[in-house]
Amino acid sequence: MSMTKSQVLQWIENCNEVMTAQRDYLTQLDTEIGDADHGLNMQRGFSKALEKVATVSEKDIGTILKTVGTTLLSQVGGASGPLYGSLFIKGAQSAVGKEEISNDELITVLKQGVEGIIARGRAEIGDKTMCDVWLPVLAELDAADKSQPLAVLLESAVKKAEESVAATIPLIAKKGRASYLGERSAGHQDPGATSTMYMIKALYDAVK
Ligand code: ADP
Ligand code: MG
Ligand code: MG
Repeated sequence: MSMTKSQVLQWIENCNEVMTAQRDYLTQLDTEIGDADHGLNMQRGFSKALEKVATVSEKDIGTILKTVGTTLLSQVGGASGPLYGSLFIKGAQSAVGKEEISNDELITVLKQGVEGIIARGRAEIGDKTMCDVWLPVLAELDAADKSQPLAVLLESAVKKAEESVAATIPLIAKKGRASYLGERSAGHQDPGATSTMYMIKALYDAVK
């Protein structure tokens, strides 16, 4: 039960595809409680990442993920670039030298990546950020039976991600631009939580 390098490459391709398809929707969410750039940030970030990844596609999974991270970090302005950059850069560390990663190793990649997001952004659960999707999804993956096929594990991760995105709607933002709105941020779905859900869907689509 594992994820191959070509599935990792497919994941990034799927991220680019879904962020392009959902660009206007993500921007609309960010218009409500932010500065109306999240769709463009994600679309541009992953299209650049895909370009860069093509130059290292023969290298190991760690190098591929690190390349995605450094590209997002350097190409995407705003909060989400450095945060998603940290996800891939920190996550890459446990995939160095690997051409294939086990279910456990993929979960470790995600866990260390999310630790990177938290180290940088200091968000806690309930702050109405991307962490409100990552943390419940990781908890679910951690608790699951890892001997199941990866597609089965990730299918329930997608479900958890969808529920978690919806659960950001009533929250009052405590981090990022949306926090400037205080109580007026309630009643709107968080843009970064939404793009995280698409990233997890893209991962599932790459292995199913
Ligand atoms: P910006 O707000 O700088 O324009 P984006 O619009 O691209 O950046 O991204 C906004 C998203 O970033 C938010 O919806 C939220 O999910 C996420 N975010 C903002 N600050 C933090 C933080 N400190 N920790 C985690 N996620 C955050
Ligand atoms: Mg924004
Ligand atoms: Mg911005």
